[in-house]
Amino acid sequence: MIEKVLIANRGEIALRIHRACHEMGIKTVAVHSTADESAMHVRLADESVCIGPPASTDSYLNIPAIISAAEITGADAIHPGYGFLSESAKFAEIIEKHGIIFIGPTAEHINLMGDKISAKEAVKKAGIPVVPGSDGAVNGFKDAAKVAAKIGYPVIVKAASGGGGRGMKIVHSETELEMAVSSAQREAAASFGDGTVYLEKFLTTPRHIEIQVLADTHGNVVHLGERDCSLQRRHQKILEESPSPALKPEEREEIGEICRKAIQAIGYRGAGTIEFLYENGGFYFIEMNTRLQVEHPVTEMITGIDLVREQIRVADGLPLQFSQKDITFSGHAIECRINAEDPFTFAPSPGQVKDYHTPGGLGVRVDSGLYARYRIPPYYDSMIAKLIVHGKTRNECLMRLRRSLEEYVIDGIKTTIPLHQKLIHEEDFINGNYNIHWLEHYLERLAKDDK
Ligand code: ADP
Repeated sequence: MIEKVLIANRGEIALRIHRACHEMGIKTVAVHSTADESAMHVRLADESVCIGPPASTDSYLNIPAIISAAEITGADAIHPGYGFLSESAKFAEIIEKHGIIFIGPTAEHINLMGDKISAKEAVKKAGIPVVPGSDGAVNGFKDAAKVAAKIGYPVIVKAASGGGGRGMKIVHSETELEMAVSSAQREAAASFGDGTVYLEKFLTTPRHIEIQVLADTHGNVVHLGERDCSLQRRHQKILEESPSPALKPEEREEIGEICRKAIQAIGYRGAGTIEFLYENGGFYFIEMNTRLQVEHPVTEMITGIDLVREQIRVADGLPLQFSQKDITFSGHAIECRINAEDPFTFAPSPGQVKDYHTPGGLGVRVDSGLYARYRIPPYYDSMIAKLIVHGKTRNECLMRLRRSLEEYVIDGIKTTIPLHQKLIHEEDFINGNYNIHWLEHYLERLAKDDK
């Protein structure tokens, strides 16, 4: 039985994990950098260990320090959250070698899905539709040109080890291809330590739709529907919703079932997300994330399932307590990511929060470690809060989101709340009529109007 969990993360997700643990009667250990001494999750955890200076490489990415903290405190499991070491197969492996439970999939599955080429091959074999492209890596310009001629321009050159929206180049014609392939290889080698690239058809107006899955170690797998994460800036998600305004119930059922079966065939365990581009009624796999996602609360709001609790139960070897037929989707949920940034230029705005007041009421959830007079350190990701609202219908959800954004007070720093407030009054958004490029175009329009 897991009795004490070390949380190898920070910010809202560390708090989120702490909450699930305490509801399950599990003790928590917070590990933190010197910059996070006064973080909310550190204050609330049963124990805390300082594991290094502010730079993540010396603290949140410092595997020996984290393992030592687990050993000193006698933690029997580690939850990695998202980002940092959450998709490090090496981390998962070392943890298990020390006789500690890793709350996540096996190192083999992290490896398999961490390389986008092997991931694509594996899921294709398991019956998931993929984006047309090179079968595996492209070796150079000539190889790439052949594939591109076959699938047609535009194409996208992607790094096999890429992530976080980096390591991608869109190419419109053969004349641009040579440069794009060689610079993509160089940049991938420099950023990810692996210069392998591959080619895909560039879909021009897709939506980003992802399927949440959950698997135990007894062969049971369920899917928890989709999330529409098409509103992105520089490939970073800004707002997510479920269900997607674009999907028909039968499409959801079909793609959900395909994913469920594939995950079962692959023998995966834990929570995972299968990401697709969706265009003209077709789904095209882009990658699988072998961890909890930032946007997992929208799924929790419409299914009533606590994903972190399930992750912990699965890691403990327990079977899922529900099967696919027990899962019902109720109402609509939207999440706004709130960053400490200028809402329109996106310049970072760390610093001290003055007044702080969160919205509340029926169907409103705020996942955040913020509090009045908390000083946001400048060293980490700028996301400081997630506002998630639920309504019986999408319209109710939108109205609730509007009034919740009005109520939310974060004084002393700039946040992206004003952007969300503007965004949700846009006709296209209200009508659910957007694709992955919509937000960038909208921001360009706003910048122009400003001049
Ligand atoms: P990362 O791991 O960096 O997040 P993904 O493969 O998930 O990379 O792609 C991130 C984003 O890049 C997608 O959400 C989409 O906006 C864009 N993208 C990726 N592949 C394609 C493609 N074949 N066509 C069009 N856009 C793409």
